[in-house]
Amino acid sequence: MSDLNRYNDWLTCKSVAWESLCANCGACCGALEDPCEHLKKGSDGKFSCETYESRFGIHHTVSGKLAKCVPIREKISRGESWPGDEHCGYKGR
Ligand code: SF4
Ligand code: SF4
Repeated sequence: MSDLNRYNDWLTCKSVAWESLCANCGACCGALEDPCEHLKKGSDGKFSCETYESRFGIHHTVSGKLAKCVPIREKISRGESWPGDEHCGYKGR
């Protein structure tokens, strides 16, 4: 295996590990207050984003307010908080 392939595998592992920290509670997308229009609740009670691959940018909440979707890293680094964030797997990392 080439160094490039090993590096790509390492990146993939890191990305999977990072994504696995999310419990899909939907809290950072407003599940407990005024959710983003793209937040969907599954039959298992978990939430997902219907536009995940192109999620970043301006959207609306279900009540019609403008809402900016940013990477969770950015929210954490800015010290943001949101209802339900005490259960977020990324807080405190
Ligand atoms: S667009 Fe962003 S804020 Fe809206 S549901 Fe998707 S991830 Fe959450
Ligand atoms: S609050 Fe944290 S655990 Fe819940 S959906 Fe958002 S990133 Fe995932």
